[in-house]
Amino acid sequence: MHDTPTPPVDCLDVLVVGAGFSGLYALHRLRELGRSAHVIEADSDVGGVWYRNRYPGARCDIESVDYCYSFSDEIVQSWTWSERYPSQPEILRYINFVAERLDLRTDITFNTRVSSLIFDETSHRWTATTDQGDVIVARSVVMASGQLSVPQLPDIAGIEGFGGQLIHTGAWPRDGVDLVGKRVGVIGTGSSGVQTIPQLARQADQLVVFQRTAHYAIPARNHPLDPAFVADLKTRFEEYRDVARHHPGGTHRVIGEDSVFDVDPAALTEAFQGHWDRGGPDILAAYRDLRSDEKAAEKAGAFVRTKINEIVTDPEVAERLSPKGYPFGSKRLVLEIDYYSTFNRDNVTLVDVSADPIQMVSGTEVVTRDQRFALDVLVLATGFDAMTGALFEIDIRGVNGISLRDAWADGPQTFLGIGTHGFPNLFIVAGPGSPSVLSNMLVSIEQHVEWITDLIDYLHTHELTRVEAESDAQEKWVAEVNEIASRTLFMKGNSWYIGANVPGKPRVFTLYLGGVGHYRDVCDRVAADGYAGFLLS
Ligand code: FAD
Ligand code: NAP
Repeated sequence: MHDTPTPPVDCLDVLVVGAGFSGLYALHRLRELGRSAHVIEADSDVGGVWYRNRYPGARCDIESVDYCYSFSDEIVQSWTWSERYPSQPEILRYINFVAERLDLRTDITFNTRVSSLIFDETSHRWTATTDQGDVIVARSVVMASGQLSVPQLPDIAGIEGFGGQLIHTGAWPRDGVDLVGKRVGVIGTGSSGVQTIPQLARQADQLVVFQRTAHYAIPARNHPLDPAFVADLKTRFEEYRDVARHHPGGTHRVIGEDSVFDVDPAALTEAFQGHWDRGGPDILAAYRDLRSDEKAAEKAGAFVRTKINEIVTDPEVAERLSPKGYPFGSKRLVLEIDYYSTFNRDNVTLVDVSADPIQMVSGTEVVTRDQRFALDVLVLATGFDAMTGALFEIDIRGVNGISLRDAWADGPQTFLGIGTHGFPNLFIVAGPGSPSVLSNMLVSIEQHVEWITDLIDYLHTHELTRVEAESDAQEKWVAEVNEIASRTLFMKGNSWYIGANVPGKPRVFTLYLGGVGHYRDVCDRVAADGYAGFLLS
């Protein structure tokens, strides 16, 4: 029994899986196009990432005025962001505001997980089943199931039997966690760990940080937004957003054309210092070779290590916090607020588990080779089964009953990141093969939703029943994605970008790095050519 709207029994034009930023906009756009659409959402409300990642300190690292929808001027005008980098509660309020304004919940079934999706070759329709026993038939399916929506537990013996409270940052309890007076451990120092560690240190009695790899972090310099700035932006928002739509990263970041080696050392340090003082991730784009030349990247890496040494008072701790062994920028650059200075607190201990590995969790203890740590709460900031995790959790079967897991056994195969051969009428929002999480996601999500829903509308208006990525087009696209990635340093960082955090996952880089603006042009050309590269029938 559903306590939220029940899925329709008649064949839908479109089934949407997921009610985060992607699914909500897909539903709105499909309604506007006059298509029948319904959303199935596993959580009990809208928000996706921002519904689940309620850990203290959770915050966006794209500026709020960029990380928002642009499709409705009414929404743009009636929402006012308060901070440079919005916090999770503010983003979730925004998503709720949009859902209410557009009356979206009436077509969303919550607390329901799609468990299988089977394509029928005679009717050219998909049949979905859910964990609540629903059977839903639809002509098309939009997978808005997320890129970072499946938490990854670390492969540590005994972890699931931890005797205290075990919490993943990506599934933080809705009612919060009382950490006052508690001994808290955190495993993981990526974006989630770096954001939450300073906050946990303030609340907990003792905080033990288990770090395997030190990440590069630079200050966010978050601040309240000047109301005059926001008001002015609203008067020219469309023009402002249009710049982001055609920008390589979907933002307004200034992209440097010089090489690091064209600049004399003092001027380079001054430029890096400027970025450090202003905060934000723009340092990554400051020079053209920072993301492609290891020696260039090392200049920025060395600068950050100097800053860590200036902030952290204990030289041994500073050394442990100093990233090494991989190029600056090849793992996600993290924005920090009080991260490094937190290690000057008396109640914080840093354990380098690359030198003293975690061997097991036993009762309430985390046991490393040389030490034992008794804890009340263990926080796992250990990331996600990214990009394919949510897709593979569903038994998706296309033409001839082939499963998506088998079709993608060597890594995701898509054309434009949107469609995949053998799975007609199935569309992925911000999936592998598109700019996705290496861009401002709100720009990329809007572009995908608009492109996909236009294609769905095209099918209906041209009385077509089926669209499928052609295998040649897909092969060329995958080759292009790989070729562009091979010119960067991403393969040199052991990160989730290449699947390194999930045992057994193929090590392939799955994001399109040709730039958001260029990618949009490619997609527009494909559409203008009658969806060349897709077989329509
Ligand atoms: P999600 O928000 O992941 O929503 C997917 C939804 O699908 C979820 O609600 C999930 O429950 C549902 N779902 C999945 N499978 C099923 C199923 N089988 N049945 C039913 N429902 C299902 N991006 C940026 O651009 N900038 C940032 O600063 C940034 N910060 C981030 C911070 C965190 C902590 C995380 C985890 C991600 C961040 N991202 C950021 C990336 C983020 O994923 C996107 O920005 C965006 O929120 C994705 O929206 P989405 O709707 O595509 O996916
Ligand atoms: P992550 O970047 O994958 O980091 C996971 C951390 O856990 C790493 O430090 C990893 O160490 C560590 N780890 C994993 N397994 C371990 C083990 N067995 N033992 C010890 N350490 C282990 O995950 P995340 O921090 O959740 O971030 C994921 C992505 O979500 C980000 O890259 C970003 O795209 C998004 N995000 C964004 C923000 C934001 O600022 N807006 C905030 C949070 C998340 P190794 O590095 O050694 O593997």
